[in-house]
Amino acid sequence: MRFLEILHIQLLLLPLPTLPPKIMTFKDLEIIEPILKALQAEGYTHPTPIQQQSIPILLQGKDLLGCAQTGTGKTAAFAIPILQQLYLDKGHESGKRKVKALVITPTRELAIQIGESFRTYGKFTGIKNTVIFGGVNQNSQTNALSRGVDILVATPGRLLDLINQGYIRLNDIEFFVLDEADQMLDMGFIHDIKKVIALLPHHRQSLFFSATMHPTIVDLSRKILGNPEKVSVQPEQTTAERVDQKLYFVAKSDKIKLLIHLLQTESMHSLLVFSRTKHGANKIVKLLHKADISAEAIHGNKSQTARQKALSNFKNGTTDVLVATDIAARGIDIDELSHVVNYDLPNVPESYVHRIGRTGRAGASGIAISFCDGEERAYLKDIQKLISQKIPVENAHPYVDEVGEIFEKPKRNPRNQGSRTAKKPAESTDKTNRNKQRRRNNWRKKD
Ligand code: AMP
Repeated sequence: MRFLEILHIQLLLLPLPTLPPKIMTFKDLEIIEPILKALQAEGYTHPTPIQQQSIPILLQGKDLLGCAQTGTGKTAAFAIPILQQLYLDKGHESGKRKVKALVITPTRELAIQIGESFRTYGKFTGIKNTVIFGGVNQNSQTNALSRGVDILVATPGRLLDLINQGYIRLNDIEFFVLDEADQMLDMGFIHDIKKVIALLPHHRQSLFFSATMHPTIVDLSRKILGNPEKVSVQPEQTTAERVDQKLYFVAKSDKIKLLIHLLQTESMHSLLVFSRTKHGANKIVKLLHKADISAEAIHGNKSQTARQKALSNFKNGTTDVLVATDIAARGIDIDELSHVVNYDLPNVPESYVHRIGRTGRAGASGIAISFCDGEERAYLKDIQKLISQKIPVENAHPYVDEVGEIFEKPKRNPRNQGSRTAKKPAESTDKTNRNKQRRRNNWRKKD
């Protein structure tokens, strides 16, 4: 008896066999066969966290407030359930297609990419989408609309324009997505968005995505959403942890030399360079050309056609370096982008996370290099605070600049982005200059 009691206790104390956690698949999310087939063809094996959280909510027809940015798999998180619901409802319809789903997004590049995603994930569903944006002739867009589409992806200005011209009616909208809401506000689209919302049918499913959730955004979301479910992925940390970051202290005047040096010495398979200003982006391209490096710039002053051309030249390897400003680069989706260089540090710390998130997409690893000159130390401080990390400093390069002082923080006025208001770094003393020269000479000797 006593023996049995002891055995019983011992058995209770044995650790329970632990089963490995089950990795979720798209099938577990009850995605229908035609979409599963397309995802398989794309090589997507498992849903990303934002997809795992959002898809079940959306398939139940609920409103969603999502705190997530590009690079997390956000587009598929809303595109898949919309496609699935439209596909399952398709049987009841006859006659010309009516626009049932509307996605509004701030930039043309993002609009094109979202349109491509709908096409990719929906290629076996027979659901049709089209994309409209400004800066190009409207004819091909109005032709596509008159042939009939199920899903419309649009930037706000052209959308209102075509609504006013009578090409688009929003009466049949069942799904409404406001994407990159914080960027919409930054770009001054708030009034346009409010006008669009006023035209939407009351009964609809609404989705609202933003990378940040400051009070104005939450306020706007209340105007759009009923009683939403909330999901949040924190790419700030995850991106910063996933990407291999390096910091190069370098004088402003040496930045181009350092960039060329890195291009010549590091194996950079594909490089996106960030410039804070459009003028700066053009200048970098010009200087890279002088060094016989093929480069193109994309920014707001370039025509839509020029931007698309630059992007496709970069994607197909015709150009080695793409130089972009923050707005133009937001949402750019380039597979296998190996390196990002922050030629200028951004004055808004969140932009740093967006920028480095261009590499290391969907779980892949990437390298983000940041140049920091004396005037940018305050920006660096803000960035490191946001990501709760110190970016490792790379000293093994010929242009090391050691300005020890932390300079006064420049004003965050976007209008002053070109002409910086920061205090100029103090003139280097003769001693610092001599030390700098000695270090460079030492480096060159090592070369
Ligand atoms: P997004 O956040 O929508 O801009 O997506 C970022 C990148 O992740 C895009 O290149 C997508 O094609 C890719 N992606 C989205 N979902 C998945 C997934 N479940 N598995 C692998 N890649 C994905």
